[in-house]
Amino acid sequence: TITNDSLMARRQAAVAGGVGQIHPIFTARAENATVWDVEGREFIDFAGGIAVLNTGHLHPKVKAAVAAQLDNFSHTCFMVLGYESYIQVCEKLNQLVPGDFAKKTALFTSGSEAVENAVKVARAYTKRAGVIAFTSGYHGRTIAALALTGKVAPYSKGMGLMSANVFRAEFPCELHGVSDDDAIASIERIFKNDAEPSDIAAIILEPVQGEGGFYAASPAFMQRLRALCDREGIMLIADEVQTGAGRTGTFFAMEQMGVSADITTFAKSIAGGFPLSGITGRAQVMDAVGPGGLGGTYGGSPLACAAALAVIEVFEEEKLLERANAIGERIKSALNVMQVEHTQIADVRGLGAMIAIELMEDGKPAPHYCAQVLSDARDRGLILLSCGTYGNVLRILVPLTAPEAQIDAGLGILKNCFDAVLK
Ligand code: PMP
Repeated sequence: TITNDSLMARRQAAVAGGVGQIHPIFTARAENATVWDVEGREFIDFAGGIAVLNTGHLHPKVKAAVAAQLDNFSHTCFMVLGYESYIQVCEKLNQLVPGDFAKKTALFTSGSEAVENAVKVARAYTKRAGVIAFTSGYHGRTIAALALTGKVAPYSKGMGLMSANVFRAEFPCELHGVSDDDAIASIERIFKNDAEPSDIAAIILEPVQGEGGFYAASPAFMQRLRALCDREGIMLIADEVQTGAGRTGTFFAMEQMGVSADITTFAKSIAGGFPLSGITGRAQVMDAVGPGGLGGTYGGSPLACAAALAVIEVFEEEKLLERANAIGERIKSALNVMQVEHTQIADVRGLGAMIAIELMEDGKPAPHYCAQVLSDARDRGLILLSCGTYGNVLRILVPLTAPEAQIDAGLGILKNCFDAVLK
């Protein structure tokens, strides 16, 4: 019989060591916010495949749309033979991405690919090669995206230096002592020490850092960044791969920032579990790359496009943006009660339903508690994720379609874990 242990042994023998796995669980089936493993155990899923399942596992509408597409064709390569659903997704994204200007969109497969292409477009439009990224930012594992990712271990450990022309500014994070002023000063310092502004094509950031720890940039900071980019002719790239598709209570987090990016990346939840990513930006910026310069064999797969169109419909039909805010408030208020009982819960925060719990002890990050809660929660039937530069942040990315009773059950498990681990 197949068990988690037997699969883990085979995994260790067959799968490259660099591919991690947070929980030693192997999946048999999943539905909305519930996952069953190969041993028949049931779990509440607060991880959502890392922010991919805002509409839950196998949403019936998404499943039906993909099944219907499978009856027609699964692949032509959009660069060879076109199809309407690719155009429809682009039309939708041109409306959904914030920015009061004409927009165009290109589709790819992964978030990393979207980031790579955002940088390519910015380089082509500005005729400049430098990019500014932020400390603890996460932009992917492909080699240019990796250069932008602001964390060496584990992402680029042992691989040598990443490509040049990336400059690191400080991400504003009051909790860890970096103010908006400090962050802006760090950019001005790059201009003074490292590279002229006229050599910088883009500044890329996550409106709310994901892997870095769920720290939100303030609207005031984003507006200063926008002004700085306008002053210097630099493209502002919002990496909304994790924040996008409704997680933060607006379809894109930048809607809450009072300014818009020139180029926006999206992926993950946009297609409800099917591989789709893309970039949307100012039409004239997007058109700076000539025919053939953007694309990929699977980019905007017909199956993924069908899924994305269904996801966007489900958001409207089920009012999932309102749900994101309601779920976020419900979770935060439950966590605030737990915080009163456990001084190690240093911070409870979140934009919409992108919720983080930061664990500290004696004023220092406490990653060991985070790891203990993660495994204790799994043993009790709750799948959680951690994040943060210090690995001391628990994050909640529960499907926005999860029934309230199930969210409460998950929070109940979490409370029991805190009671057991944080004594
Ligand atoms: N950007 C951000 C903000 C992300 O959170 C991620 C994935 N965690 C990526 C890019 C990379 O996406 P992918 O893993 O699909 O390549």
